[in-house]
Amino acid sequence: MHGQNVELSGVSMTYPNGFTAVHPTDLTINAGEFFSILGPSGCGKTTILRMISGFLEPSTGSISIGAQSVNGLGPNKRPTALIFQTLALFPLMSVWENVAFGLEARGVSKQERRRKAEELLELVALTGQAEKKPTELSGGQRQRVAVARALAVEPAVLLLDEPLSALDLKLRQHMRAELKDIQRKTGVTFIYITHDQGEALAMSDRVAVMNEGRIEQIATAAELYNMPQTPFAATFVGEQNVFGGRVKHTNGTTVEVETGQGLLRGRNFNDLTVGEEALVLVRPERIEIADADGVAGNEDSNRISGQLLRRDLEGALINLYLRSGEQEIHVNLHNKGNRDFSADESMTLAFSTADTAVMRPGPMAR
Ligand code: ATP
Repeated sequence: MHGQNVELSGVSMTYPNGFTAVHPTDLTINAGEFFSILGPSGCGKTTILRMISGFLEPSTGSISIGAQSVNGLGPNKRPTALIFQTLALFPLMSVWENVAFGLEARGVSKQERRRKAEELLELVALTGQAEKKPTELSGGQRQRVAVARALAVEPAVLLLDEPLSALDLKLRQHMRAELKDIQRKTGVTFIYITHDQGEALAMSDRVAVMNEGRIEQIATAAELYNMPQTPFAATFVGEQNVFGGRVKHTNGTTVEVETGQGLLRGRNFNDLTVGEEALVLVRPERIEIADADGVAGNEDSNRISGQLLRRDLEGALINLYLRSGEQEIHVNLHNKGNRDFSADESMTLAFSTADTAVMRPGPMAR
C-alpha cells in the first residue's frame, strides 16, 4: 500500500437550500500524512470528507488525488475508502468475511481473499479472531475490523469520520495509538475528522482547524498549541484566559494593551496598531503565582493581582480560579505538594510577554 496526496483548489459547497457549508478552500494533504480536520459540530468537516470521497460534488473548485483529477468520479472510482462512526459491519458475516468483503466484487478468489484478510487482521492486531462474528468482539476490536476492511481494497487515502466517538474514553485513547501505528505501517494517507482536540493533537502530523465553513489554521500539534494564529484556533484548542482592551503602544513585535487589569504586554500577532481593539491571550499553565516573598515572574513579566475564588485539586495538577476586577482567571499549576491555598487569598499572578499573544478580535470557541 502507498499513500497519495490530496489537493483541494477553490473547493466550496453550497447546499440546494442555499446554505454554504464550506467556503472556497485550498488545501494540500501530503502523501502518507496523518491529517486531521478539527472543528465544532456543524463547521463543515463531514462536507469536506464527502467531497473528497465522491459522495458529494463540490459547488466550485477541483479535487485531485495523486496526479489524477477526481471531479465527476463516483466514490468507487476513487482511490479512497471511508470509515464511519457506525462502522457498518455485517453482523452475519465472520470477521474475515467482513474484511474481505470489498475483494469479492473485484473478482479475487476465495483463497486469496482469506489470505489477504489474515494479513490485514495481523496488521490490526486481531490475529486468531477471523472466524468470530462482529458481535463476539469488543468495541475496540470491531473498530479494528472496520479499519482492516477499509484497507483491504488498498486505498491510497483513508477517510475517517469520527470513528472513535462511540467508544469509551479509555478505549478511545488506546485506539488513538493503534490507528497512528497502522497509518505509519501502511503509509496510507489518513484524513481524520473530529471535534475532539485531544484526538487530533495526539495522532496527527498536521491539523486543520475549521470554523463556520473555513479553515482557520493548518499546523502541527505543537505549533497549533503554542502559536495559534486566530482567536478561534487559540480558544478551541486548549484553554485560554482572554482579556479585551485597546492597543496603547507597539514596537511592531510586542504590543501593550490597556485592559481592565491594567497594561498587558504580549507578542503582536496581527500587526496591530495604536488605538485598535485587541485581545490578550494567555494559557492557564503559563501563569505563575508570586512566592511567599511576593516575587513573581521576571522583570518584564505581566503582573495582575487576583483573589482566589476556588481551587480544584486534580491529582498531579491544581486548578485555581481567581477574580481580578471583572474578570475570572484560570491558573493551572503542577501539584508540588509544597503550597496550600486558602479561600479569598489575594495573590499576584505573573506571565511572560513571550507567553502572551495579542490578536485582533474575532470569533472564539464556545
Ligand atoms: P458534525 O461534527 O456535527 O457532523 P460537521 O462539521 O461534520 O458537523 P457538516 O455535516 O459538514 O458539519 O455540516 C456543515 C453544515 O452544513 C451544517 O450547518 C449542516 O447543518 C449543513 N448541512 C449539511 N448537510 C446539508 C444538506 N444536505 N442541506 C443543507 N445543509 C446541510
